[in-house]
Amino acid sequence: DLYNKIIELKGNIRVFCRCRPLNAEEIAGGASVAVDFESAKDGELIVKGHVSSKKVFKFDSVFSPEEDQEKVFEKTAPLATSVLDGYNVCIFAYGQTGTGKTFTMEGTEEARGVNYRTLEELFRIIRERQGLFQYEITVSVLEVYNEQIRDLLLMGSQPGVAAKRLEVRQVAEGVHHVPGMVEAHVSNMDEVWEVLQTGSKARAVGSTNANEHSSRSHCIHCVMVRGENLVTGECTRSKLWLIDLAGSERVAKTDAQGERLKEAQNINKSLSALGDVISALATKSPHIPFRNSKLTHLLQDSLGGDSKTLMFVQISPNENDVGETLCSLNFASRVR
Ligand code: ADP
Ligand code: MG
Repeated sequence: DLYNKIIELKGNIRVFCRCRPLNAEEIAGGASVAVDFESAKDGELIVKGHVSSKKVFKFDSVFSPEEDQEKVFEKTAPLATSVLDGYNVCIFAYGQTGTGKTFTMEGTEEARGVNYRTLEELFRIIRERQGLFQYEITVSVLEVYNEQIRDLLLMGSQPGVAAKRLEVRQVAEGVHHVPGMVEAHVSNMDEVWEVLQTGSKARAVGSTNANEHSSRSHCIHCVMVRGENLVTGECTRSKLWLIDLAGSERVAKTDAQGERLKEAQNINKSLSALGDVISALATKSPHIPFRNSKLTHLLQDSLGGDSKTLMFVQISPNENDVGETLCSLNFASRVR
């Protein structure tokens, strides 16, 4: 398939950049746009300079504000085949709060995102392979907040249960697991939708401000696939991780104290640990620092080796956000 042709040339890490549209408030306020899509070539993103010269970034794909969920998924879909072929896959959304990470991954009921569409694609291919392969799929939904792992399906199915803290354990050579994590069996898209909704609702529970909480935590879907080739009897196990990362914005030291400062430090720590791991993998470094954060520890057996990684770098078109936009684009250039 196309993805495999590309990764033969480039390794297993791809980066897509997606820019959100200006919102109504920005349009009403006459916001200026700092991103130039008109003169950009395929795969290029141009940030217009204020006084200095413009900056050009290169990505595997760039999605302008006009490109919808279908367009984005067209380029993401080949990874579903990889998962069913036995590869581990991680898909991340990275960026400043408000740039569309949740829109890309979760989407809305009318404009469903990568999470729903990837599962839909898995089930489509499973139907296509019926009689030759048999598959079993489970979905887990976790959250990493302040370097603690919570199970959103457990919280969603048993409201009132005190959030149990989970840990990552190595259960066999190269196999990491989170003992006690709920693994919901899904066999059709109605069940998938229900599980995704349960996880999404649980994310807001227990926080005074749901939006703020979600911008400071990583929301993680783990899809486990067990496959059997009915002809040869060969079995595969693979994992697909769908991750809506915490907001990457830097918090001014003067604004943050106490709990808020600790949160900010934990976010910085886990996002930079993720960047360190992916760039160490990209440069084939002999030491990959997986143990520096809960997130990278959790993903240890699904990053590197023959696993495939896709990172969506989400940005704002607004000139006022250009500082954060350049930070995100620089992060992305580091992992590519
Ligand atoms: P984040 O999760 O990065 O904080 P959100 O996904 O919540 O950002 O997006 C912020 C707002 O912008 C939401 O109202 C979302 O629906 C809207 N939005 C983001 N990206 C797009 C897009 N590509 N097209 C239309 N609306 C978008
Ligand atoms: Mg969000």
